[in-house]
Amino acid sequence: MHEQLAEGAARLASEAREFAICHGILRYREGRIAHLPLTLLPCWLPRAFVEQGRQATLVFNRLYHAVATQRDFLEEQLGAALAGDEFLRRLHDCWPRTAPLKPILYLTRNDFMPAWNDGHCSARQVEANLIAASLGVMSERVTALVRHLYQGQSWLKDLLPNHSGTNLANAMGRVFQRYRQGDSQMLFIIPAGEANAFDQLGLLSRLRIEFEVPAVRTSLQELGQLGELRGGDLYFRGRRVTLVYFRAGYTPDHYPDPECWQARRLIEESSAISVPSVATQLVNSKKMQQILAQPEILRRFVEEEEARLLLEAQMVLAGVDQEIEWRGQRAPARQHALSHPEAWVLKPSREGGGNNYFGQELAHQLRQLSPASASSYILMETIQQRPFRGIRLSQDQVLDSPCLTEMGHYTACCLEPGSSEPVFNELLGTLLRSKDCTSQEAFVLGDHSYLDAPVLF
Ligand code: ADP
Ligand code: MG
Repeated sequence: MHEQLAEGAARLASEAREFAICHGILRYREGRIAHLPLTLLPCWLPRAFVEQGRQATLVFNRLYHAVATQRDFLEEQLGAALAGDEFLRRLHDCWPRTAPLKPILYLTRNDFMPAWNDGHCSARQVEANLIAASLGVMSERVTALVRHLYQGQSWLKDLLPNHSGTNLANAMGRVFQRYRQGDSQMLFIIPAGEANAFDQLGLLSRLRIEFEVPAVRTSLQELGQLGELRGGDLYFRGRRVTLVYFRAGYTPDHYPDPECWQARRLIEESSAISVPSVATQLVNSKKMQQILAQPEILRRFVEEEEARLLLEAQMVLAGVDQEIEWRGQRAPARQHALSHPEAWVLKPSREGGGNNYFGQELAHQLRQLSPASASSYILMETIQQRPFRGIRLSQDQVLDSPCLTEMGHYTACCLEPGSSEPVFNELLGTLLRSKDCTSQEAFVLGDHSYLDAPVLF
């Protein structure tokens, strides 16, 4: 199969390129429109790996919601991280003491890697993305690309169906229609110079065409300048806002001036549904991921059986200066990681790719990280994968090398004001990103990994 494919790769590449242009698997790259990095051959994954991720994801949603509504717990647990990390602190400062009660919508993607141990594969969470979880539209199109390229192949019956983009837009559309007020609008908050504009446009255009949602794109800066509160409602350019969907705001670069922070405060203080709220974004910090991996803390928020499911799907996570038992030895996590840099990943409380430290860089950073700054960093055990042969197309080049992969499960979860029982908590589809096994990051827009699709066995 692989040999045959390598020979026909030039033909496949040309078909894939045309399909990508025809169906908009595109992004901006150095000021021009280019296709996204793509698979030319899907990735075979165990059914149980996908199923475990699906089950854990819906429980993780319940956990995140439970934690987001426990302000005292969140502030107490994140205290040191807030003191040590200016971005988290400024975010927290936008959270009003008396926040209005409003419906809640989560649009998330929970990312897992297949961890192989003695021939057995299980799902291990990399992280959850509760803000700006992207590529749902593109992922659906890549699944279609695989069907197009391999029409007639018997194994297509095992290709995981994927309607992540359609389902994401539908979830937004349903929520907007449920809570819209008169001629109110929906805002997409996007960063300046966004490369991933077409992925967002896929959602936005479906909302406009199929749901008649007045959806408009703006920036944090513009909302901070032009947004206002009237009787507790958010108005932008004279029109009430029902729903604000963030595709920006997860990194300090998205806040170049005080108006951007003003936008966050306005949304928080208003009746507008914010995807996500500041509280949710704080729950999504890497520091909180580590805190919530502790069994005694987890059990405060979910049932015993659910806690077991979540713990099974997690690697060892630790605060940098936390004493932990690892490989039979008790020591501060920093010490374990310094002795075995390849077995750990060092993560600051940041999103968006390119922030983590691996291997020798990890060791270097750990040596100079002061205890105060270390309070917002976490150490996570490396997930050990089994490389597979990946044939893919990146900027008109066919690449063929051993690869690793990461699967995200998209969800939508909606709750009425003050309720703890979701109106719905649903899986929407998947994202598969694969990368050369020598590459550490999985950032598709940065050409670190390519869009893939899973065939189940
Ligand atoms: P970000 O918020 O920047 O996306 P992630 O936690 O998702 O941060 O890490 C970025 C990438 O680093 C992941 O997509 C994955 O490729 C790699 N990575 C992160 N944690 C691990 C881990 N424990 N083991 C192996 N690779 C990891
Ligand atoms: Mg990630």
